[in-house]
Order: sequence, then C-alpha cells, then structure tokens
Amino acid sequence: MTAQPLPGEQPVDEGDGRYLRRAIELANLARSRGNRPFGSVIVGADGTVLAEAWNRNGETGDCTAHAETEAIRLASPRHTREELAGATLYASGEPCVMCAGAIYWSNIRRVVFGIDAVRLRAFRGARLDQRDAELSCRDVFDASPVPIACIGPALLDEAAASHEGGWKT
Ligand SMILES: [Zn+2]
Repeated sequence: MTAQPLPGEQPVDEGDGRYLRRAIELANLARSRGNRPFGSVIVGADGTVLAEAWNRNGETGDCTAHAETEAIRLASPRHTREELAGATLYASGEPCVMCAGAIYWSNIRRVVFGIDAVRLRAFRGARLDQRDAELSCRDVFDASPVPIACIGPALLDEAAASHEGGWKT
C-alpha cells in the first residue's frame, strides 16, 4: 500500500451538519446491531428526509447492504429522478466504489460525507475481508456525465469515533 495524503477537513453549514450528524447516529446504531458502523440519510431539496438507513451486512449477510445502497433502495422507487436530482445524500463515511455507482444511477447530485476512505483504512487494517477497493468516490463522480457535488471529509472527529474499536485487528 502506498501512503496517500490525508484529505483536509471541509466545513459544513448548520443544515448539512445536522443531517451528517444523523448519519453518524445511524452508523452507531448499525454497530450496535452487529454491522460495520456506517449510516446514511437522503434529504430532498425542500429539506424532507427521503430515506434513512444503516449498514445491514452483518444482520442480513448481504454484502451489498451498505448504508448508502440501503438508503437508495428506499428512496429510488418512491421518488422521481427529477426529485432525486435535487436531493443530498449524507454518509457517515466516504462512499465506496459500489455506493458511488449507486449514487450515480439514483441521479442524486450532491454528497456530504464524514470520514474519508484514506483515514478509514487505518481502522480496516491489512485484513482482506476488511480492505476496500482504493478508488475515491470522487473518481467515480468525476467520470459521471452529470456533475455530482461532493463535500468531505467533514465532522471528522465525530465520524471517526464510530469506528474506534469497531473493526477486527
Ligand atoms: Zn458502499
């Protein structure tokens, strides 16, 4: 593994902070139920919460049950692509390659995340069953034909706290 630079923390306003903190609460809920500590919230352009979800991999055995895909599975059948284009997806951790792809397919155009993938690797360690594909969600979003705004890492101390002692060593 080559050492990657740590991305700088980005400021969030009160509204983004509120929903990102909710995503972090859901990450802690996920952990208390035997899953990896990840949570996600999708909020519409008018501030309506469209979906809340957490990682359910441990509960269900479904390796695709990441918090973001779970939230998108709730919101996508119930809302039009036009509605979702104005929505923001909040994630307690930087979306993985799969979730970044799901965000693209959902037509959600704005993402705010807590802890970044580079810092998460300190918790994942060297175990192959915990490592991620080392591609930033921004690399996926940059390949999208429509712009997808991405803010993060943000609220780093709070987002990182969910992961303390939460991974196998
Ligand atoms: Zn994911």
